This record gives sequence, C-alpha cells and structure tokens, in this order.
Amino acid sequence: MITEQTTNAEENPRDAARLCLAAVANAPLPMVTVQGERHIVRYVNAAFCELVHQPQEELLGKPFCEVVPHQTECVELLDRVLHSGRSESHLEQEQHELHPGFRSYTLWPVIADERPVGVTLQVTETARLQEEAVAMNEALMVGAVHQHELTEAAERLSAQLKAEIAAREAAARDLAEKARLLDLSNDAIMVRDSSNRLTLWNKGSEQLYGWKSEEVLGKDLHTLMQTEFPKPYEEIIAHLHNSGNFSGEVVQIARDGRRITTLCRWVLDPETNSILTSYTDITERKKAEEGLRRAQAELADRALHLERLVDERTAQLRETARELESYSYSIAHDMRAPLRAMTAFARLVQTEHGAQLDETGHAYLGKIITASQRLDHLVTDVLNYSNVSRRKLMLHPVDVEKLLLDTIRGQPEFQPPAADIEVITPLPPVIGHEASLMQVVNNLLANAMKFVLPGTRPNVTVRGELREKDVRLWFEDNGIGIAHADQQRIFSLFGRLHPATEFEGTGIGLTIVRKAVERMGGTVGVESEPGRGSRFWIQLRKADENEANSPASGR
Ligand code: ADP
Repeated sequence: MITEQTTNAEENPRDAARLCLAAVANAPLPMVTVQGERHIVRYVNAAFCELVHQPQEELLGKPFCEVVPHQTECVELLDRVLHSGRSESHLEQEQHELHPGFRSYTLWPVIADERPVGVTLQVTETARLQEEAVAMNEALMVGAVHQHELTEAAERLSAQLKAEIAAREAAARDLAEKARLLDLSNDAIMVRDSSNRLTLWNKGSEQLYGWKSEEVLGKDLHTLMQTEFPKPYEEIIAHLHNSGNFSGEVVQIARDGRRITTLCRWVLDPETNSILTSYTDITERKKAEEGLRRAQAELADRALHLERLVDERTAQLRETARELESYSYSIAHDMRAPLRAMTAFARLVQTEHGAQLDETGHAYLGKIITASQRLDHLVTDVLNYSNVSRRKLMLHPVDVEKLLLDTIRGQPEFQPPAADIEVITPLPPVIGHEASLMQVVNNLLANAMKFVLPGTRPNVTVRGELREKDVRLWFEDNGIGIAHADQQRIFSLFGRLHPATEFEGTGIGLTIVRKAVERMGGTVGVESEPGRGSRFWIQLRKADENEANSPASGR
C-alpha cells in the first residue's frame, strides 16, 4: 500500500504529501475514550480491542485499570489530563519479551460544558510507528526532492516572469511616452490595419475630427470620414505598397459635418501592413489660397482692363496732342503774316509819316515794333519746337565739327569782336539729324552769348569727349552761371530764370534742345555754379566708319 503511494508520489510530489498525511490520520491506531474519575471505558476502536485481545463488549463500561491491568503509569496520565484539561503524550518501553519495543500514548481531554469529563487515549506501538515514520519519511524525501526541483523551477519561472514583466513595463512606458508625444502633436495621427480599421487615434485626431478614440477604434477610417482622394484609391494603395509612402491632399467630413481639407502622409509598416497616417488641416490655407487665386485673377482682369483703358486714353491723348500741335502750329504759322505786316506798317509809319508824330507817338510806335518783334520770336520758337517734335527724323552720321564751324561762321554775333568761340578739334562724327542738330548748337551758343554780365565779352569753348559708344559735346561759357536747384527746370517749357527786361527770351530754347537731342536718341545736361560760367553738354551716339555712309533709322 505504501509502496504504491510512493510510486504515485514520484509522479506528483504534492499528492504524495497529501497521501502521507491521510495515512497518519486514518491509521488504524488503537484508541479508547474513558469517562470520569474512574476512567470508565466509553469507546474503543477495533485496533484497541486487538491490542488488548478483548472484544469491545468486554471493555465498554469497565474502569480502564481493569481492562488494561499493570498500567498504573497510564492511569496517572489519564488522571493528569482529566484534571489539567491539557493534552499530553508519553513514550513507554514495553515489557514484552517477545515483542520488545516502545509504546507511545497520546491523550487529550474530552470537554463538555467547558470542563474535562473524560480522556481519549491513542496508543501507537513503536514498531508500527517506525514503519509509518519510514513510509512517511520516504514520501517526505521524495516530496522534498520534488519540492526542491519545484522551488528551483518556480524560481526560474519567477525570474523569467519578472524579466518579462519588466520588459512589458518598459514597453508599456515606451508606448505611453510615444502616445503622449503623439498626443502633443497638433496633427491628427492615426494607425489603421490592413483592413483600414483604426487601431490608434491621437488627441490631434480627436480635436480635428471630433470623434473620441473609443468611438472610432476598430472602424473603417475612410467610410467614417467619407474621404475624397485626389486619384483612385486603388492607385494610391498600389503606390503605397511600391514606395512605402504616399502624400497628398484629401477632403474629409468631420463629425459635425464640416468639410476639411488635409495634407495627408501615409507610411506603410511592411511587417504588419499597418498604415501610419498623419493629417494636417490645411482648410484655412486652401481657402486663403483660393481667395488669393481669385484676387489675383480679379487683379489680372482689372490690370488688363486698366491697361486697355490706358492704351485707349493714351491713343486718345496722342490724337488730341497731335491735333493740338497741328492746331497751335497752324495758329502760330497764321499769326506770323499779320505780325510781320504790323511790324512792316509800323516801320512805314515811322519812316514816311514820322514827321507828323510827336515824341510820344514815336515812343508808342517803337513799343508796337518791339512787342510785335517779341511776338514774332515767340511764334518762331513755337514753330521750331513744333517742328522738332513733329517732324520725322532720319538719323545718319553727321560731321558735327563741320556743322559747328559753319554755324559759327554764318553768324556775326558768334564771332569776334562780339564773342570768342573756340572749337577744339577734331570732333568725332555723331548719329543725328543735321537740321535738328544745327538748331541745338545754335540755341546753346545763342544762350552763351546772351547770359553774360553786362560788359563781359562772351567766351565759349566747344570740346568733344568719347564715352564708350557715345560722344559728349561740351559748351563751356563764362556766363552768369545757374544755381543747382534751377538746373532741371531750365530744360522745361517756359523755364526762364530771369525777367525779359533783364535777359530777353521766350523760355523755349533749351526745351527745343532737349526735345531734339532726345529724338536723336541722346541726352542733355548742365554743370554750373552762379558767377562761374556754365558747362552745357549733349550726348549722342558716336558714328563709326561703317555707319558713315548708311542712313540710320528715324525715331
Ligand atoms: P530763353 O533763352 O529764351 O530764356 P531758354 O530755354 O533758352 O530760354 O533758357 C531757359 C533759361 O535758362 C534762361 O532763361 C536762362 O535763365 C537759363 N540759361 C540758359 N542758358 C544759359 C547760360 N548759358 N547761362 C546761364 N543761364 C542760362
């Protein structure tokens, strides 16, 4: 029986321990219960009957000392337990010759109404006890070995579990940190599995679309948000699987029905086929861009409209200016004949009827002649200006040196003793229009003669200077000079600096110079200081040898 249990125990040490305890508890140990001071036997078990070799009915109701004679020590023990109410055990050497050994007594009180009324005695013979103990020891040893193995295995398991728990805790911390970082992002970040079902939904997604994480996890993302893609979905997925990512603009519907335009970026996790997606709200930017596009289109429309309007108005103005020019030209032209007639008749009256006039009459007549001469100059200048502005200019190389010398020679007021004009030669030829250039040279020299202090003999030097592809002609005089602030104004129409009583003139001469030079493709200017003379200049394109014989285009 014990051997069988030991075999089972090898299979399961815990069961072995349990079986050992059961063997002790259920051992058929002799047991007797006595009552009262005389220790009347009230209960005996079969083992006890066998121990004392008497049937049960012989034992019950008799004092213990009668049924078990020569047991004074045992009776003393029964007395002690009955009186003290405490359990006791006792080991006794047996006086049996055939079966030398020991007996162990275990006694415990029987309590009724909280006081001991009897004693239960259990007897164990040492031989039996040893047998039981050996069996139990064996079982316990097997149990201990298994216990040791179990402990080791449990320790190993526990260490593994601890490591696993630590790793899981670290992973959980890591995941929580990542989730926290994801939540910090303003962008909507989500993860969906290969079937489009959402597995992660950060705070940014919650804020952008309005759904809480628990409402959307496990749902189909695109059905939920009715995503409108820039191209067919299948194409996008094919691209994603080829390149691992996709980005583009999509339109989605939020929980409250708002249409949101987002810039989406998808990244495919090749291991799980999950897709990490992030969406940036660009609705406002798109609206702004759309607004900008509309405003630009409107602006372009308006600019076009304005351009047309300006073109139309410019054409109208040109037409009006042309009409005015030709009108003023014809008026100026028509004014000349009566003006000259007035001057001529005034002179006739002076010469043929002068005797009949007194001093005042002569003075009036003189004023008429002066005024009509002034008016004639004005008309002549207006006509010259008109000519310079309107006439078609055929540009060609002009020998400016010859032109200058001819002009000086042709007018006595440009020559000594009236004035000294020196032309420093040679002067390079320029591209220009001869008549216009003559007018320019004439006006500049005439001014140099005019704007000198009384009693000063005009002195002018004309020199040329090469400036890359241009020639600059300088006219340096010893006149009254011009303040820096007036140096631009004098080139505009009627930009006179002095009254006619001081220096006569019309205020058109330099305007003609500027207009003519500009029409020949050149520029004009002056350097001067009051009282230190002036250095007027005109700059025109230099004519080279190849161009010398070919006519240049008109402007
Ligand atoms: P006008 O000679 O009929 O007055 P211009 O247009 O030729 O008109 O000249 C405009 C003004 O420029 C002159 O009134 C004069 O004040 C100034 N000016 C022109 N040339 C000279 C010069 N060489 N020296 C000083 N001032 C000048």
